[in-house]
Amino acid sequence: MPAKKSAVKRRSTRMVKKAAAAKIPRITYATLAITPEDDKKYDEAIAAVRQELGRHFTNFVNGEPRPSSGGENPHASPVDTRVVVSYFPKGTREDTRAAIQVAHEAFGKWGAMDYRDRVKILRRAADLMIERRYAIAAWMAFEVGKNRAEALAEVNEAAELIRYYCERMEFHKGFVLPLESPGKGQKTVSVLRPYGVWAVIAPWNFPMALATGMSAGALVAGNTVVFKPSSESPVAGYEIYRAFADAGVPRGVFNLMVGPGATVGAELQENPGVDGLIFTGSKEVGMQVYHHFAKNYPKPVIAEMGGKNPAIVTASADLDEAAEGVMRAAFGFDGQKCSACSRVYVDRQVKDKFLDLLVDYTKNRVVVGDPTLKPTFMGPVINQAAVDTYLRAADEARRAGGKFLHGGAQIKTGEMQYGYFVEPAIVELDKKHHLFQEELFVPFLVVDAVDSFDEALALANDSEYGLCAGIYSRDQKEIDVFFDNIQAGVTYSNRRAGATTGAWPGVNSFGGWKGSGSTGKSALGPYYVQQFMREQSRWIVG
Ligand code: NAD
Repeated sequence: MPAKKSAVKRRSTRMVKKAAAAKIPRITYATLAITPEDDKKYDEAIAAVRQELGRHFTNFVNGEPRPSSGGENPHASPVDTRVVVSYFPKGTREDTRAAIQVAHEAFGKWGAMDYRDRVKILRRAADLMIERRYAIAAWMAFEVGKNRAEALAEVNEAAELIRYYCERMEFHKGFVLPLESPGKGQKTVSVLRPYGVWAVIAPWNFPMALATGMSAGALVAGNTVVFKPSSESPVAGYEIYRAFADAGVPRGVFNLMVGPGATVGAELQENPGVDGLIFTGSKEVGMQVYHHFAKNYPKPVIAEMGGKNPAIVTASADLDEAAEGVMRAAFGFDGQKCSACSRVYVDRQVKDKFLDLLVDYTKNRVVVGDPTLKPTFMGPVINQAAVDTYLRAADEARRAGGKFLHGGAQIKTGEMQYGYFVEPAIVELDKKHHLFQEELFVPFLVVDAVDSFDEALALANDSEYGLCAGIYSRDQKEIDVFFDNIQAGVTYSNRRAGATTGAWPGVNSFGGWKGSGSTGKSALGPYYVQQFMREQSRWIVG
């Protein structure tokens, strides 16, 4: 390319990138950078959503509202259980069968559409989510108790996931790859093609981002979807549906089916009309889905599951950096992130200093309260079962001689008595205790001393999970050994913004090894979209 032309091309590429970046407010989990304008709009959205609480919603099949014959479920807010956030239908097996059927009928056209047209529609959905971000974040505060910065970051992540997967589709030119010609007058091509109908089963803790990401991956590849959000976060599910529908995703291509695991979840697993299934949630349910989905022949199952994510703090670590990073990862969204840091192995020589700093950061930064208020760092946990898990763990730790450095109780004072509020807990405990193994999914951090880096690494790997892991060390050799030997899909060194948390589309892929994930390919990353497609090899003569 002549120099002048290539300079023009470089400039225009830069401009396109700049324009795309300008559309996305840069609130991420790492920056949590809220502007005064964001605060104002969020507060206005909270006031508006408050007026809508208790609204009745429906499922959507073939673009039409579908009230269920199974009745409705009221969903109480974890912030104040006297408040009903929404009523959603309890989807039945029959409703789910209808959704699978229309998704099957819609597949032909959507799957055959030029990928560039699909990308155009999906990008509009991302723009709509950004336009609606304050209202969506406000609903999330009432629905799952997420604070404003984390909720706004999550809506941004949802939009960026759509855009990133679209960009991947374009980068690979729709996954049509000419191969070496077998001879004169003949050509061969590898084409990745969609499977058909995908079930998308989502968890409540990232009700926008993860559900949007899974759905967008399936859709951009040309599949149609029956989407089951968690019953703890159906409004977020509805907002995803609304964005896709308003963006122009054709009827039947994306169907919303809220309802119990025992009906909607079971039908999605058992119905032979479902060609692929993607699940994000607990290991218990994920493994059940993994074992039961494919019956007569292999079908793709992507299961992203839980974690018990360790941080290693070595003798050479910057202890202030380590303490802040661990605090943010352990107590961000109340420890209810799959990436939450829930166990720490700290070198005995620096243990006391590290723990003093960690407790200071927790005391000073982790404000517990109403998630709609600006200063709040930790809102409520999701439900009574989470409170029970927290109290059971605290009791077990006490009985095993654990030393509570912070927290350990439910908060029952003032307005918090009406919600599911607990204190952030930091417990020094024997590293052989099962609380170093079990995923609790509440703000409960266990810590113990180790005598060497090798011991810490072995303990970090001694887990059925392999999602995230972090290290704090100034010794490059230790850091290299950590990356080469840690059994985890998402890894960090010396990260103040979060020891084990903060993945972002196109920046930091997110997927688990061992009991944390089934495919070895990560969400948010460059190999994700391919999983929703199968290869067809074509030999064309003439
Ligand atoms: P969950 O397993 O209880 O539920 C996940 C989804 O599965 C929900 O929609 C639920 O209704 C559905 N479900 C329940 N029973 C079912 C059944 N029998 N058949 C089909 N579907 C069924 O998980 P959760 O409480 O919503 O989410 C928390 C868990 O998710 C934690 O373990 C967390 O670590 C994990 N998680 C993992 C990732 C990741 O990327 N690896 C991300 C977020 C959350």
